[in-house]
This record gives sequence, C-alpha cells and structure tokens, in this order.
Amino acid sequence: MAKKEQSAEQKEQKKKKAVEQTAPESPKTGVRPKDKSETTDLSIEQKLKNLYSLQLMLSEIDKIKTLRGELPYEVQDLEDEVAGLQTRIHNFQADLKELENTVGQQRIKITDSTNLVEKYKTQLDNVRNNREFDSLSKEIEYQGLEIELAEKRIREFTADVKLLTEEIQKCKTFYDDRKIDLKSKKEELTEIVSETKIQEEQLREKAKQLEATIEPRLLASFKRIRKSARNGLGIVTIQRDACGGCFNKIPPQRQMDIKLRKKTIVCEHCGRILIDSELAGVE
Ligand SMILES: [Zn+2]
Repeated sequence: MAKKEQSAEQKEQKKKKAVEQTAPESPKTGVRPKDKSETTDLSIEQKLKNLYSLQLMLSEIDKIKTLRGELPYEVQDLEDEVAGLQTRIHNFQADLKELENTVGQQRIKITDSTNLVEKYKTQLDNVRNNREFDSLSKEIEYQGLEIELAEKRIREFTADVKLLTEEIQKCKTFYDDRKIDLKSKKEELTEIVSETKIQEEQLREKAKQLEATIEPRLLASFKRIRKSARNGLGIVTIQRDACGGCFNKIPPQRQMDIKLRKKTIVCEHCGRILIDSELAGVE
C-alpha cells in the first residue's frame, strides 16, 4: 500500500518537472504579436521593404484569382448553354411529334374520304332519279377535293418534319460538342482550384504575418490605393524615371527623395507609394 502511494507521488512530481521543462520561461514574449510601438519603430526603409514584399504576395494571390476567376464563369455559361440546348431539343421533339400526329390524322381523313367515295360510287349504280345522281356526284367530288387537300397538307407537313429533324440533329451535335467542352472546363477548374488552393492559403498566411509588421495607417492607405488601382498595385518602383503604376514622369528631386528613404512618398499623379528599385530588389 505504502509503496504504491509513494510511486504515485513520484509520478506526480515527475509530471510537474516535465511541465516545467517544456513550458517556455516567458510564454508571452515569443508569440506576442508586435504592438504599435514596435511597428512604428521600424525604419521607413524597412516599412517600405515589407510593404513591397506584401505587394508581391498580394499580386501573386491576384494572379491566382484571375486564373481561376474566368473559369467559373465559363463553366456557368456552358452549363446554361447546354441546358438551353436541351430545352430546345425537347421542344423541337414535341413539335415533331405533333407534326407526325397531324400527318397521321390527314391519312385517316384520306382513308375516310376514300371509303366514302367507294360507298357513293356503289350507290350511284342504284340511283332512282337525277336529283340523287347529282347529289351523289357532288359528294364524290367534294370527298375528292378533301383527299387532295389532305395530300397537300401531308406534303407540307412532311417537308416540315424533314426540316425539324435536321434542326434537331444540328442541335444534338452542338449539344454534344458543348457537353465535351463543359466536361473539360469543369475538370480544368477542379484542377486549378485544387492546385492553387494550398498555394493561396500559404500566401494569405504569409501576407497576414507581414501585415502585422506594417503600421495600420500606412497599411490602410496602401490597401485603399490597391483597391482603386486597376492593376492592384499600391506600391511601385520607379521605372525609367517614371512611376511604375501610372508611368508618369517623376521629377529628379522627388526621385532623389525616394532614394533617401526618409519618408513615404507617393506618386503625384496616381497616389501610389513609391519605392526605389534597389530597395525593392528589382533591376
Ligand atoms: Zn503614378
């Protein structure tokens, strides 16, 4: 009994020791996000450098989004088109059935009229007077006209059936083609999404970490410029004496100031933050 108690106590002590050993001496210092004073303490040079790195990451994310951005719409368009064609084929087939029914009805009419003509002809053999003869003759003539009319209609409807059948065939070919397109676009989209998902998540995580090192006011203005800029650039280098965002010339004195890296300088024309190429690490 006593032995057991002792060993339990020992175990407890071991546990405590283990906890003490693994716990960092001051758990806060390592993981605490940099506070305001720390971000403002960064030199202008470092701020600009961080901001430019952030820009590169965000541009990369933009690229991924653009790459994927078009595809969902293309897939949607194709899905709509395929559905539209399906409805069209369905409607045409209903029309075709109706036409075929009408042709069938006209055939029945011909049979009926032919039977009547036969009947009237036998009656003609037994007429008792001219009046009966005339009346029967008129009926025969009338049924003959009915037969001709029905035959004419059948010819017309048959031509319509032919046209409609051709149209349905065209639609079906188109439908099959679109179906193939849709399948490949869908596969492409799935592939791109799965391929870029991890990459995008990693970039977002890195960007988030970097954003924490940039002072909120600078970050906010950077994001505002980025949002209004069509190319998504909030910070740009000087390229051939011009702003890398709007390509307007930058006066030599301003270029000098930018190279001094003593304050954040924006382009007079587009408002983008300017960084010298050397600091940005580009040629
Ligand atoms: Zn500019």
